[in-house]
Amino acid sequence: MSSTVVIYSEDVDYIKTGIASTKGKTIVISPREVRLGDENHVINEIDEQLIAEYIARLKPDLVLTGSSKRDKTVAGLTAGLLRVPIIPDVIELSENKAKRVVYSGMAIAELEFSYPIVITLVKKNTDIRENPDCKIIKADLSGNSKVKVVEEKHKEGGSIDLSSAQIIVSVGRGVGSKENVKYAEELANALGGAVGGSRPVTAELGWLPEDRQIGLSGTKVKPKLYIALGISGQPQHLAGIKDSKIIVAVNKDKNAPIVENADYTIIGDVIEFCKVFAQKVKGI
Ligand SMILES: Cc1cc2nc3c(=O)[nH]c(=O)nc-3n(C[C@H](O)[C@H](O)[C@H](O)COP(=O)(O)OP(=O)(O)OC[C@H]3O[C@@H](n4cnc5c(N)ncnc54)[C@H](O)[C@@H]3O)c2cc1C
Repeated sequence: MSSTVVIYSEDVDYIKTGIASTKGKTIVISPREVRLGDENHVINEIDEQLIAEYIARLKPDLVLTGSSKRDKTVAGLTAGLLRVPIIPDVIELSENKAKRVVYSGMAIAELEFSYPIVITLVKKNTDIRENPDCKIIKADLSGNSKVKVVEEKHKEGGSIDLSSAQIIVSVGRGVGSKENVKYAEELANALGGAVGGSRPVTAELGWLPEDRQIGLSGTKVKPKLYIALGISGQPQHLAGIKDSKIIVAVNKDKNAPIVENADYTIIGDVIEFCKVFAQKVKGI
């Protein structure tokens, strides 16, 4: 096969996966190794476009990427710019044949392709070997970035890893106001747990930082105890808490969907519950 192969991946070792099956001039682009701008530079979607444009300008016969979200974004953009086909999630690659899993893992398809082509590789099944004939030229994209870091701000109070918390006291719109969140925090402190929240409370109303959002588009949690305070239990929220061991719902509405999904339910006012329960836990 022809000569110019571009390999792009967020994972430097992973890049070698592709090298095993390529010959000739190979250009490796890795955001971990190649800084696009200054020291603090953050790769973002603008840079993904930039990287794709850079790759396309090299007119490669083969573009190999990893399969992280960013790798795939670059792959898709590059295929679009080059107007060439893309084969995603390849598990095995030889000269002009690629294998990929199809039908939810029920079968493996073997595809024959011609160059030029863009391929994304799945790491877990691919053999990492380095082809000694392969010359690696690291791409230097410095100075090309359209993004400049102006200021860095660190999060106040440090971030909390909800995904590994054992006890979570979670706040929903039913808590009523930002001021009332303190009752949930007091309860969480008494229990030695963390405070999370539903999307309205985090992303929309700003009663809690956005990184505390639990659910489909937030963090998926698996605590031993999940206390849902004034959370209705919409599917998008339930998707993030289904692996909790015990779910306790506190809601004034006995017909709220969370009730059916909870192990224990307290029908009543969330603030009253927090005050009484926190005192009980503290032994006051
Ligand atoms: C694409 C998409 C992604 C989404 N992702 C997420 C996600 O990741 N996480 C998420 O949470 N949501 C997500 N949502 C939003 C989701 O659909 C719901 O709108 C949201 O979960 C509702 O939040 P809530 O339960 O806090 O509020 P509400 O639905 O308004 O429920 C408030 C509850 O509080 C109860 N209540 C009110 N006052 C009291 C009181 N004084 N005492 C006791 N109970 C009281 C009410 O009976 C009610 O059940 C997503 C939506 C979409 C479309």
